[in-house]
Amino acid sequence: MRLSRYFLPVLKETPSEAQIASHRLMLRAGMIKQATAGIYSWLPLGFKILRKLENIVHEEQVRAGHIPMLMPTLQSADLWRESGRYDDYGAEMLRITDRHGRDMLYGPTNEELITDIFRSHVGSYKDLPLTLYHIQWKFRDEVRPRFGVMRGREFFMKDGYNFDLTKEDALHAYNRHMVSYLRTYERMGLQAIPMRADSGPIGGDDTHEFLVLADTGESEVFYDSAITDLRLGGRDVNYNNWDECAEIVKEWTTPYARTDETHDEAAFNAIPEERRKTSRGIEVGQIFYFGTKYSEPMGATVQGPDGKSVPVHMGSHGIGVSRLVGAIIEASHDDKGIIWPEGVTPYHAGIVNLKQGDAEADAACEAIYASLNAIGLEPLYDDRDERAGGKFATMDLIGLPWRITVGPRGLKNGVVELTSRRTGESEELPPEQAIAKLAQIYAGHVLRPSL
Ligand code: ATP
Ligand code: MG
Repeated sequence: MRLSRYFLPVLKETPSEAQIASHRLMLRAGMIKQATAGIYSWLPLGFKILRKLENIVHEEQVRAGHIPMLMPTLQSADLWRESGRYDDYGAEMLRITDRHGRDMLYGPTNEELITDIFRSHVGSYKDLPLTLYHIQWKFRDEVRPRFGVMRGREFFMKDGYNFDLTKEDALHAYNRHMVSYLRTYERMGLQAIPMRADSGPIGGDDTHEFLVLADTGESEVFYDSAITDLRLGGRDVNYNNWDECAEIVKEWTTPYARTDETHDEAAFNAIPEERRKTSRGIEVGQIFYFGTKYSEPMGATVQGPDGKSVPVHMGSHGIGVSRLVGAIIEASHDDKGIIWPEGVTPYHAGIVNLKQGDAEADAACEAIYASLNAIGLEPLYDDRDERAGGKFATMDLIGLPWRITVGPRGLKNGVVELTSRRTGESEELPPEQAIAKLAQIYAGHVLRPSL
């Protein structure tokens, strides 16, 4: 992409309504624009990152054997009356009446709708196990929408639902989800810690939340610092191996890690003092096993091997995709702007032409631009006729992890400058070597076709 042809409305001033870094930076970097309280338009740069995160979530869910689909945003109130949640959900549910006077709602979650789909089409244990998921907009009329996309009213969420014959099968689904979530967050360059949680209006016995540590998080968290040393490191998990999944879950749920909702002072104090940590965290996902809570009242049953009809065991699992954009920024920024991890960056490298209009500099930039595209990387070329300082400030603000700076002085010696956004360190290299280095850096990340 050439910056002169893009739509990147960066702001010079710090917007006064934004209280936390991610909100400020998303507005300043031209990623979002508020449409009304808690509802945002995703401008091209923000949309590109949202799509990248969505793609990572899809890839990891499909890898775990879960099946993608798409359910609508608007739902009929009737299904929610069946489950008993139409009244329970309260003021967070946006209720709408259509022209025929029918009660509708903008879905805050999809347990009812998916259970209805399941009961309409599945009748035998032979069709199990089954895990369906979608990534779709949700609406919750939050009392206090704030912090930009972190606590929006409309937000983008992956929600998945498993249907199993027995509790044991459903607990394997729970483990599979935990592992796939850990892989997902790691690919996004994030450390999200699973913490035992409260189930809230979704209901259920077993539930973990995934929290990213950040001072601006809304939850208070208590944990054993040993958990922050754990990494899956891209481990190629065999999701059909129940023991392997259970072992990983055990490893990640043994060290103490809880939110204030389930905090147990005595258990916490049993950890050696130097490992006892208190911090704030951003919830970026949650998984639940809730047994037959929905299948029983809604009649989602299958015929078991003995011919008897039994309600299925279910769980639901959510990832806050739009909130993750903010969470990644909270975890990775400095006073100049965002610092995208390589796995999610909207463009892989920026190209800054220090002397636009200089025949040699222009030609060198064009050649680098073409070479990066040819190896499947997406460069953002700042080809505007602007001062170098302004170009650097924009690149720093939008946070591309690598920048190639091209100027007549370097070109005389056959070199360009390759700069890391994270460390600020630069090295002078011939253009081919800079390109080869970027190819190597990004080799571990699946490259997707651009939007
Ligand atoms: P919270 O406690 O933050 O209100 P929740 O526990 O009600 O969230 P879930 O039902 O577990 O949310 O939804 C799954 C995920 O969707 C959450 O982990 C979070 O990342 C995201 N999410 C929930 N509410 C919002 C919101 N208002 N804005 C953005 N993302 C949200
Ligand atoms: Mg939750």
